[in-house]
Amino acid sequence: MNWEDTPEEAAFRTEVREFVAAHFPDTYVPDPDAEHSLEPEDVWGYNWAADRLSSDPARRDGARRWAAALAERGWITPHWPVEYGGAALSTKQEFILQEEMMRARVPTVNGIGAFLLGPTLLTYGTAEQKAFHLPRIARGETTWAQGFSEPGAGSDLASLRTRAVLDGDHYVVNGQKVWTSLGVQADWLFVLVRTDPSAQKHKGITFLLVDKETPGVTVRPITDIRGDTPFAEVFFDDARVPVANRVGDENRGWYVAMAALSFERAGIGATVKFEQALSTLVEYLKSPESSATVRPNTEGLRLEIARRYAEIRVLYNLARYSASVPEPGYEASVNHLFGSELHQRLARTGAKAFGRLAELWQRDDAPLGAAFTHLRLDSVAATFLGGTTEIQRNVIATRGLGLPKERNA
Ligand SMILES: Cc1cc2nc3c(=O)[nH]c(=O)nc-3n(C[C@H](O)[C@H](O)[C@H](O)COP(=O)(O)OP(=O)(O)OC[C@H]3O[C@@H](n4cnc5c(N)ncnc54)[C@H](O)[C@@H]3O)c2cc1C
Repeated sequence: MNWEDTPEEAAFRTEVREFVAAHFPDTYVPDPDAEHSLEPEDVWGYNWAADRLSSDPARRDGARRWAAALAERGWITPHWPVEYGGAALSTKQEFILQEEMMRARVPTVNGIGAFLLGPTLLTYGTAEQKAFHLPRIARGETTWAQGFSEPGAGSDLASLRTRAVLDGDHYVVNGQKVWTSLGVQADWLFVLVRTDPSAQKHKGITFLLVDKETPGVTVRPITDIRGDTPFAEVFFDDARVPVANRVGDENRGWYVAMAALSFERAGIGATVKFEQALSTLVEYLKSPESSATVRPNTEGLRLEIARRYAEIRVLYNLARYSASVPEPGYEASVNHLFGSELHQRLARTGAKAFGRLAELWQRDDAPLGAAFTHLRLDSVAATFLGGTTEIQRNVIATRGLGLPKERNA
């Protein structure tokens, strides 16, 4: 396939480059430790949601100014209609915008609100929900987290047990969510709750919007292997959520949630990150500094790096392909599966190159600021996040290849 830009696309690419050069605040240095390369928020860029609450006033101010500049163009929510603060960009333009922002190493803003919740509200939200929430997301004023998974409900999400009982014009919610990415930083949560325990498990679920300040909602950060807190457990103890915050009908939340997940398009973010990581490694290996610190430049290592290079080009083509499909289904799973396993292979290649120095993770002590150690620690979660490897393979087998769900079906 030919992915060359058309003249209009090339002009748009130039427009994005010029915009970033003119508007990204000089004083804004995104926090490298807040970056988790496969968090849904920052698969498209640095973790802006954390920078927005940084204890460093310059970083906080930079994050705010950058969001304001993007919002002015409708580029926090590039694919939304203009009336809600978007820019009505085509899928291809949106892809180019993300690609150029990643190449310039500037953060995208408000990913979960813009890319998961926003399109869901545009389809299923009430007029009041749209009028209240969408402009706030588009301006980068409120950030969101997705509270679906529970201790006993991950791949088998429909087994979730968080209970909501109708009481007048409120639902009273009790239960627990886990692995809520940006649960600590977000202002609001969108959650799935069980409203009819007697119904078949997919049919008794409802989709609610929950203000994190609601009494009875407690967020407990989960500390990851790097000592950071990219996700949280969320507890509900008699939390009262207005019925007006229900999206879609009661007991039909499963279908709303499936729509939300289908909006999680395979983006370009991971490809650009991997490409940048690999070229940094290659530059380092070519530098005089490296001969003293890393493994000898063996043929085995050179071949492995060449393979990673080819695989990153494959991932780029997969991302371009799924962006060209009107409603990617199994194509997004192919992209996710290949990208998550490549993430782990790339991290292992870096570890091989650095040998025992790959164990150093303090940025000041290690070559390349310990970038590959961090990539390796990050990559562990890659084959879980957003659906595990086995679930992606199941989707490809059944929806892509048309294989039966059951052995003898
Ligand atoms: C970094 C990170 C961020 C996350 N962020 C969020 C978030 O923001 N919001 C949220 O709601 N959730 C989030 N999650 C949770 C994520 O969606 C779940 O971890 C994932 O769906 C897997 O569920 P589980 O952890 O319960 O594992 P399980 O579902 O218990 O799976 C355990 C193992 O069994 C395998 N398995 C399960 N079912 C099948 C099957 N049918 N066929 C074959 N194999 C199977 C799995 O592949 C896996 O290897 C996040 C997870 C991670 C790691």
